Amino acid sequence: MSTPRAGANAPLWASASRRSATVSRAPERRPTEESSWGVSRGGKDGGWRASGLPESVASGCREPPLCFGLKNDLVGVVIGRGGSKIRDIQSTTNTRIQIVKGYPEAQVKIFGSKAMQTKAKAVIDNFVKKQEGNYSPECQVDIVAFQPSFGRDVSIDDGVITEDQPLIDWDQIREDALKWEKKKWADLPPIKKNFYKESTTTGSMSQVQVDNWRKENFNITCNDLKDGEKRPIPNPICTFEDAFQGFPEILKSIKKAGFQKPTPIQSQAWPIVLQGIDLIGVAQTGTGKTLSYLMPGFIHLDSQPIPKEKRNGPGMLVLTPTRELALQVQAECSKYSYKGLRSVCIYGGGDRDQQIQDLTEGTDIIIATPGRLNDLQMNNFVNLNSITYLVLDEADKMLDMGFEPQIMKILLDVRPDRQTIMTSATWPCAVRRLGQSYLKEPMMVYVGTLDLVAVNTVKQNIIVTTEEEKRTHIQTFLESMSPKDKVIVFVSRKAVADHLSSDLILRHISVESLHGNREQSDREKALENFKTGKVRILIATDLASRGLDVHDITHVYNYDFPRNIEEYIHRVGRTGRAGRTGMSITLLTRNDWRVSTELINILERANQSIPEELVSMAERYKANKLKKETGKKLGRPQGKPKKFY
Ligand code: AMP
Repeated sequence: MSTPRAGANAPLWASASRRSATVSRAPERRPTEESSWGVSRGGKDGGWRASGLPESVASGCREPPLCFGLKNDLVGVVIGRGGSKIRDIQSTTNTRIQIVKGYPEAQVKIFGSKAMQTKAKAVIDNFVKKQEGNYSPECQVDIVAFQPSFGRDVSIDDGVITEDQPLIDWDQIREDALKWEKKKWADLPPIKKNFYKESTTTGSMSQVQVDNWRKENFNITCNDLKDGEKRPIPNPICTFEDAFQGFPEILKSIKKAGFQKPTPIQSQAWPIVLQGIDLIGVAQTGTGKTLSYLMPGFIHLDSQPIPKEKRNGPGMLVLTPTRELALQVQAECSKYSYKGLRSVCIYGGGDRDQQIQDLTEGTDIIIATPGRLNDLQMNNFVNLNSITYLVLDEADKMLDMGFEPQIMKILLDVRPDRQTIMTSATWPCAVRRLGQSYLKEPMMVYVGTLDLVAVNTVKQNIIVTTEEEKRTHIQTFLESMSPKDKVIVFVSRKAVADHLSSDLILRHISVESLHGNREQSDREKALENFKTGKVRILIATDLASRGLDVHDITHVYNYDFPRNIEEYIHRVGRTGRAGRTGMSITLLTRNDWRVSTELINILERANQSIPEELVSMAERYKANKLKKETGKKLGRPQGKPKKFY
């Protein structure tokens, strides 16, 4: 009897490395040596004995093994899933069993006493008989599971069969995923995307005229992000008629709103989006970006080959970071309502049952915050595969708020050949990545520069002060307000908002507050009162720093400086909107000195005056930083000396 060789005849469960370490080396081992995994040849008589077995078994192992052949495709049945069957046979019969796959059939060796060998063989025969007479797919799975496949290794350790990690065939997985994707979206109706007919006026613009228009309109810059050969960027439209000549109802509602001309983002975004091209719009706040995606979206929805009654779900989805923005977008939807398209607003904190009912009744447009929509999606209250027009509004804020996982899950159910629009006030790496993942060959339009720029319709004042003096400053300001002024006061924390507002109420100054700890209904009421002018002072956390569109805010008061300079820009952008001018007042204390240099840059670029105190604050900060860095290089201890008592 020879020891099984590693290679073609190696045990099925032995991995290549284990095989060479065990089976193939077994003959050279000293008689007393035991293989750690299974059976080894030992003893003076050259007989077999099983390792790791009780003494009673070992003594019986002097018997030569009982050998017989087994069809290769029945090996799996005998071994069982994860080695369960062979382990059972071994333990109930006090034997060790080795199966070596070979040609034309596998070789089975049973080690143990004669009686037990016979018993084990009877059990195996029984399995085989059952298998041959009664083929079932379940058994087939076992067989397949133990076929030696690419990268799959099974080994046995002290009678316990273990499976080495199979190598993952990524190519296969990718191929399967593609197939699955194709199947998932196979039966959906085609999408019509191009509704743009360039007007003769737009088409006849010379390159110089195009360049001048872009320059004069806040320096509109465009880019085709398609790989390879670039497409021509369409000329900007200069009048509403140039964009919507075939859509009189759109023109009617624009006229009703009293708008004079398209805003810069609209003039460049509309000819792109109306052609069905994905768009990334980077624009300052309050620039008319909502209508830049809503108007083409209305046309898109109304012009699909499948009429909306047969669509079986909403056609447009707008994802926004906050409930306030979601409600605002819905308000715009209703204001410029087109051909009876219905919209619902889905946001956390709102009445979930009501939202479910709204969805059940049917809608054309969903405007939602990602958390709540994902919740309703997971619970099958909403069908998203009818969406053909998707908007990721204020993408940077959604990422800041940690919504990326929810966005990811929501978009798994939205057909990939949709048209996608993404807006963002800033253009950091994370937003670029999001754009790459969810938009296809987009064009990009940005208004102004991609660097941080605060709106230049706002006069920005900076007051360098102390924490203690802040109250006096704001009081003086509020007392000097004229009846037509409307101010939003930004604070850093909810508690500060509460303290400040109760303080002012005690002084008989009428204020509203807006922060995350307030009930949604209270938040909506506060905003409503502020919008309608019932109260003219709103104290808010950064919840209101973006998207909030109240036209007649005359002042932004930064009682506390925000976490970062981006937020400062968003706050300042709450005033000076839609063609108006505004003013911001920012209190800055020593605690904020880290931002002083960046703030100076922002002020410089917007041609604002820079107070001396701010310049010296920035210098002190720089000097302090330098001192710290030099200290570090020289190995001096940093900060306060440690106490060792
Ligand atoms: P948004 O940037 O979408 O928050 O828009 C800010 C405000 O500008 C909204 O209240 C719009 O109604 C308004 N708006 C949109 N388009 C125009 C336009 N072409 N001219 C003047 N105001 C506009």
